[in-house]
Amino acid sequence: MRTSPPLLRVSAKPNMDRAMTGRSIDGKAIAARVRADVAAAVTQLPAQPALAVVLVGDDPASHVYVASKVKMTAEAGMKSVEIRLPAETPQADLIARVVALSADPEIDGILVQLPLPRHINEAAVLAAIDPLKDVDGLTEASAGKLSLGKPGLRPCTPVGCVILAKSERPDLTGANVVVIGRSILVGKPAALLFLEQNATVTIAHSKTRDLKMVCRGADILVAAVGRPEMVRGDWVRPGAIVIDVGTNRVPAPEKGEGKTKLVGDVAYSEAIEVAAAVSPSPGGVGPMTIACLLRNTVLAACARRGWAVPEPLSGG
Ligand code: NAP
Repeated sequence: MRTSPPLLRVSAKPNMDRAMTGRSIDGKAIAARVRADVAAAVTQLPAQPALAVVLVGDDPASHVYVASKVKMTAEAGMKSVEIRLPAETPQADLIARVVALSADPEIDGILVQLPLPRHINEAAVLAAIDPLKDVDGLTEASAGKLSLGKPGLRPCTPVGCVILAKSERPDLTGANVVVIGRSILVGKPAALLFLEQNATVTIAHSKTRDLKMVCRGADILVAAVGRPEMVRGDWVRPGAIVIDVGTNRVPAPEKGEGKTKLVGDVAYSEAIEVAAAVSPSPGGVGPMTIACLLRNTVLAACARRGWAVPEPLSGG
């Protein structure tokens, strides 16, 4: 029984690097295909869907993410409404804005950029989002539907993980999937989404015993921990598919004094020697997150307005 909108089918496009054993999964290219499918779907809708993005405060990384989301929303042919609020915005005011967006018939999706300033309770703000407009898939209603196997909007980063895994192994039935991390944002929903794909799923975390051996049992290893290059090459089963979700900023003295760079949770150069394919970080899951947000906006508009989901997004 189909329990959720089907994930986009993406054909494997091996990016062979002759010096290495495995393939690098090109998240940027796959995300571009998802965005192209979204844009094609939008042209078939009776009206343009609209995404509202709410940004509170001055976090530089959040500003970069939001600018990118707004730009790509427009490129996909959708309307975007950007609401920027000062860091000192009272929680009640923010909730009132979100309630107003939830009630606005012109708005199809609402994304509240996280993290929020410390004085604001994130759960209380997310609870104000109409579940039908929860394009981030992070409200309790969306999490409950995922857990119960009911149709609903799924969280973007975990959906991106599944699409990347399926780009290498289209049928995940029976695959042994190990997800390291059990956060509400990534680990838990990723595990449930792989379960929906009929994989056999293990969730590992900071209390897991003999993590290396658990990981070596994985056909598909998803690392969502937040610890730079924790997963070494000898944690990876030969021929496995590795999806690196981690995004860690570390010192990069080789680039100059005080410089930094982003690395994943996986020691890429070691893992690629052993695995069939590795989704690197950066350049893997990150681009998928925005692509899946756009996809969710179209799915949310269709569900709420009673439109049929256009073919590019409805195919199995
Ligand atoms: P989080 O809330 O901090 O959760 C981290 C998880 O890793 C926890 O479940 C924790 O276990 C587990 N963990 C920590 N240390 C461990 C260890 N030594 N061995 C095994 N498990 C360990 O982080 P998150 O929000 O899930 O994010 C994870 C990473 O993904 C971060 O680097 C984040 O920046 C990145 N991320 C990327 C994207 C993207 O779009 N690319 C989106 C979201 C997140 P316990 O539960 O036992 O503490």
